[in-house]
Amino acid sequence: MKIGVLALQGAVREHIRQIEKSGHEGVYIKKVEQLKDIDGLIIPGGESTTLRRLMDLYGFKEALQQSELPMFGTCAGLIVLAKDIVGEEGYLKKLDIDVERNSFGRQVDSFEADLNIKGIEQPVEGVFIRAPHIQSVDEGVEVLGEIDDKIIAVRQGKYLGVSFHPELTDDESIINYFINEIVSNTKA
Ligand code: GLN
Repeated sequence: MKIGVLALQGAVREHIRQIEKSGHEGVYIKKVEQLKDIDGLIIPGGESTTLRRLMDLYGFKEALQQSELPMFGTCAGLIVLAKDIVGEEGYLKKLDIDVERNSFGRQVDSFEADLNIKGIEQPVEGVFIRAPHIQSVDEGVEVLGEIDDKIIAVRQGKYLGVSFHPELTDDESIINYFINEIVSNTKA
């Protein structure tokens, strides 16, 4: 599979490394024209306000709103995919969820946790950095994981979103889930 990573800002290289470790091809996506050559897209973590500004600038907002590609958002990428953001206008609106930004405290409060994620047998290692959480989900959105009663992983059809950074660990289970359960099935 050819998996693109939106390469405007944030933890891009780490996702490419995990895609390649999983035996697939990772592509740095810098222009909308490249979207037609990939099977799925990852929107990485970073800073969602900056990310949204850059996506506006390079034409990704419209292109991705119209795109049928499977997408996976991590941390800031989850915020970008959400239909609603507390106190702000939602952006791509691919996931029918309401997210709250920075809901685990400030940068100093970053932490790691072993997470139970539906559909993955082993606990998944996650790194939370000024992470958002999912305050509510609409019908049709499957909750895949929670921590302290806060939703941190969801799937809605071909869209997957997590609050944390799976790419900063050596645990490839989430990326494998995205590629094997979502991208492969969409392509078939
Ligand atoms: N706090 C950031 C935001 O609101 C997200 C942090 C991250 O992606 N690690 O955009």
